[in-house]
Amino acid sequence: MSQVKFYSGENIPLEMHKVRIVQKLNLPTVEERLEAMKGAGFNTFLLQNKDVFMDMLTDSGVNAMSDRQQAAMMQADDSYAGSETFTRLQQALENIFGTKYFLPTHQGRACENVISQTYVTAGSVVPMNYHFTTSKAHIVLNGGRVEEVYKDEALNITSNNPFKGDMDIAKLRAVIEEAGAENVPFVRMEAGTNLIGGQPHSLANMKEVRKVCDEYGVMLVLDASLLADNLHFIKTREEAYQNKSIREITREIADLADIIYFSARKLGNARGGGICTNNEEAYMKMREYITLYEGFLTYGGMSVREMEAIAVGLEETMDEEMINQGPQFIQFMTEELQKRGVPVITPAGGLGCHIDARSFLPHVAQQDYPAGALASAIYIASGARGMERGTMSEQRNEDGTEPLANMELVRMALPRRVFTMSQVKYAADRIAWLYDNRDLIGGLEFVEEPNVLRFFFGRLQATSNWPEQLAKKFREDFGNSL
Ligand SMILES: *Cc1c(COP(=O)(O)O)cnc(C)c1O
Repeated sequence: MSQVKFYSGENIPLEMHKVRIVQKLNLPTVEERLEAMKGAGFNTFLLQNKDVFMDMLTDSGVNAMSDRQQAAMMQADDSYAGSETFTRLQQALENIFGTKYFLPTHQGRACENVISQTYVTAGSVVPMNYHFTTSKAHIVLNGGRVEEVYKDEALNITSNNPFKGDMDIAKLRAVIEEAGAENVPFVRMEAGTNLIGGQPHSLANMKEVRKVCDEYGVMLVLDASLLADNLHFIKTREEAYQNKSIREITREIADLADIIYFSARKLGNARGGGICTNNEEAYMKMREYITLYEGFLTYGGMSVREMEAIAVGLEETMDEEMINQGPQFIQFMTEELQKRGVPVITPAGGLGCHIDARSFLPHVAQQDYPAGALASAIYIASGARGMERGTMSEQRNEDGTEPLANMELVRMALPRRVFTMSQVKYAADRIAWLYDNRDLIGGLEFVEEPNVLRFFFGRLQATSNWPEQLAKKFREDFGNSL
């Protein structure tokens, strides 16, 4: 796993950084956690962070910054137009992607708004390896449709396929043929495919996708939000790239895309986003929307301090010892859970450790939100909060029926360089206890169900007194431990 071998033979990820600023954490008692979970309507989004021991909800905007990033923030050039900070960020992007033009935005979904408004019209079809919530929403909002062309294996929970994020080239061709190339404004490739467990695509596959795009005269757009993890996986899993540097791999990927966009809440370990291209026409078309929705062309809604941090963060992303930290800790947690029999997505991907709630809780019907119930139970057992990624995250049909999700997952995100190994071990240990007591966990039902994006604000209750039973069992097993 780690590049550093231990004499004992143990497979342990080694931190290649030291901690110099810390934030004190609070671990409430199991009784307090039970009350907090009830107060939050069994929705981890509604917990107060003061009640959370390990915040594993997301990797967005919560990654650790480096000393060099913090130092750069002190030298930001705050001017509305023509800021030096913009020039530095634009140059950092040109250095790694080789792209001349850069359009700044306030975050990743803002890039999706701009790209979709520019290129998607009624009847457009956008093929992609897999959708992301906001990417799909913007395409649909502009009258388009998403066609996912993932390989069959992408949705298998356990697999040995190192690149579950690859596109099925035959399906891609078929979708373009059927829609008519003139109705396909672009093909979207997502690095580190978020919703199927942070699974990477290979460079070989992206080259194939490029060939198809050339054949049909269609643009290729790369969502590079989770590129850092994907770079690590290409380097470690794709034979042909083992001796290439991260910088060379990045450049090869970038050269295949017409437009690259990213959320800097993930890529670059700060907060913001942007669109990069060498296509002058695309740049000219999209930039009008930047001034309309984001801000002037030299800040795009971002604070100049964050822009300085992104510029340094992007450079640091070219360091293999930096980008391997997330995936190595995720693999470690995944293996710890596997050892204890807990069903998890394999191979381990980027972003976080993904637990399969359907096989964890086979006795909880999908209509009773097993992934939501498991996320609540994990919080009660550990004070760690993850995110439900299952039926609760879908939208109810107009006739009131539930569209059941393809997968019922709980994502335990590992924000980059934030948690130590003992904390990861603690989370895995509590989840393993929960697995041994899984029969105690029951389902959930909505008491307040918003019409859109219900998973953000919706409130639920337990279908029985299982949360109380769970807390009671915890107290019996752990004595007066927190
Ligand atoms: C997070 C994310 C986005 C959206 O970025 P925001 O900064 O949260 O708006 C888009 N695509 C992918 C793959 C992401 O992970």
